[in-house]
Amino acid sequence: MSDTIFAKIIRKEIPAEIVYEDEQVLAFRDINPQGPTHVLVIPKEEIATANDIIGDHEQLVGHMVTTAVQIAKEEGIADDGYRLVMNCNPEGGQEVYHIHLHLIGGRQMEWPPG
Ligand code: 5GP
Repeated sequence: MSDTIFAKIIRKEIPAEIVYEDEQVLAFRDINPQGPTHVLVIPKEEIATANDIIGDHEQLVGHMVTTAVQIAKEEGIADDGYRLVMNCNPEGGQEVYHIHLHLIGGRQMEWPPG
């Protein structure tokens, strides 16, 4: 059993504002939102980083993306636009080593990121 904070959220050991859940993924609001909408979509399977995604995970990772898009539509930000981000390892800014897709929107994004 992993001790990442996200594993504890999956196991419902710590609370989170869950917006979607099925047998494969969980989506909940980020505790430190970077926009009016900031939802994290995570797989229930433990995958530490993007580097650990293998061919067997293609359906799962695709499901993470379609889940994020569905939530963007439900949040009313799909037409104006949003950002989907998966940070990898220290230089990518990853802090929690259980892969997650950030869905951020509801404000104008800048590019390039810092
Ligand atoms: P990373 O930097 O790994 O890509 O993103 C981790 C994200 O998880 C951050 O945006 C951070 O605010 C969020 N986060 C960390 N701990 C918690 C928590 O306990 N609950 C929730 N809802 N989000 C968290």
